[in-house]
Amino acid sequence: MNTSEIAELQKRYLMSTYAPGVALVEGAGTCVWDAEGNEYLDFVSGVAVTNIGHCHPRMVRAVQDQVATLVHVSNLYYNEKQPLLAKALSERSGLPGAKCFFCNSGAEANEGLIKLARLWGSDKGRYEIVTMRQSFHGRTLATLTATGQEKVQKGFGPLPEGFVYANFNDLQSVQDAIVSKTAAVLVEALQGEGGVIPADPAFLPALRRLCDEKGILLLVDEVQCGMGRTGKWFGFQHYGVQPDAFSLAKGLGNGFPIGAIVAGEALAGLFQPGHHATTFGGTPLACSAALAVVDVIEEEQLLANAMMMGAFFVEGLCEIAARHKKWIAQVRGLGLLLGLVLDVPALPLQKRLQEKGLLALATAGNVLRLLPPLNVSREEIEQALKLIAEACAELHDELAAQSPNPCQCGVGQ
Ligand SMILES: *Cc1c(COP(=O)(O)O)cnc(C)c1O
Repeated sequence: MNTSEIAELQKRYLMSTYAPGVALVEGAGTCVWDAEGNEYLDFVSGVAVTNIGHCHPRMVRAVQDQVATLVHVSNLYYNEKQPLLAKALSERSGLPGAKCFFCNSGAEANEGLIKLARLWGSDKGRYEIVTMRQSFHGRTLATLTATGQEKVQKGFGPLPEGFVYANFNDLQSVQDAIVSKTAAVLVEALQGEGGVIPADPAFLPALRRLCDEKGILLLVDEVQCGMGRTGKWFGFQHYGVQPDAFSLAKGLGNGFPIGAIVAGEALAGLFQPGHHATTFGGTPLACSAALAVVDVIEEEQLLANAMMMGAFFVEGLCEIAARHKKWIAQVRGLGLLLGLVLDVPALPLQKRLQEKGLLALATAGNVLRLLPPLNVSREEIEQALKLIAEACAELHDELAAQSPNPCQCGVGQ
């Protein structure tokens, strides 16, 4: 089928929750191809999902082997892949005594975190969760309520009780939101959907101290920044803090659906049989995919590559930003979770880049989010920079009337 045939079919049989333009049919590494055979550099990576690139041979082999051996068994039975993956995540989390629960998506992982916090607080009269404005935690009823953005909540009331909002990177505002019924603070180390905004260096450590002082939990949503995306296994590791528990999904299975809760000592033993469950959570197949991801990140030293390529990319983006100070405000992010912050809507730039063969993602209105795979090469980043420079030069004239704005280049950390 060609793109217009696929689009026609989709229009007829799928709910209009998305508005795609390109039909992708194949991927390899950093490249994807559309139905007409056009090639793109994929700097979206399924929104921080395909962190080791498309169809990595190691993952293909792991999934092919496992699919022919055992796909699914109920969690009423052991399956060795699950504790092996839990061990791998627990060890890399740095949280002493950490244990995992596996599910299927980011929203589901955050639902689990919320349930864990509520269960922990149930005998203390603590159930309320403080989340941040501009955050993103998912689309289920509880997680869209946790999400501090009116646009995802509008039309879906009444919303579940027990969520209050504070301002990201504003300790006083979190402090003001904590009351005797507060169970936890839930935060992203870097707000992805919110516009690629890293936590300030002092914010997470101060939150940790505040939560300790108040005797409440610190929960971190690592769905987008986890699994090496920021150049460390988990985003909070840039800040020298340990949360009580955190959630994972997106990059964990490199596209094979899997999510997880990882909980430190205080919470690891809380869930007992009957408290929480999911049919598909942690199947042999999903865990094999995720185990391959962990192996590849380690063996190919992709944390180091993400840091190095991230720094190289930021340098190039800052040069471009310096040429367009009138409408490019800033480059920010961590590792390979980067944002080109514009003073104008980012969608026209996203579209122009797509025409040139680079997939990137407009977010929060004016931010172009760039998420190449962690094994991206220097040559691929150079190619992307060339296309971004071209697209920006083309847009420059159209935007010449904008007011000046000084460039404030530099990454968060
Ligand atoms: C994408 C995302 C989610 C939701 O994950 P789903 O798998 O779409 O449910 C939650 N939190 C963050 C930070 C995300 O980026």
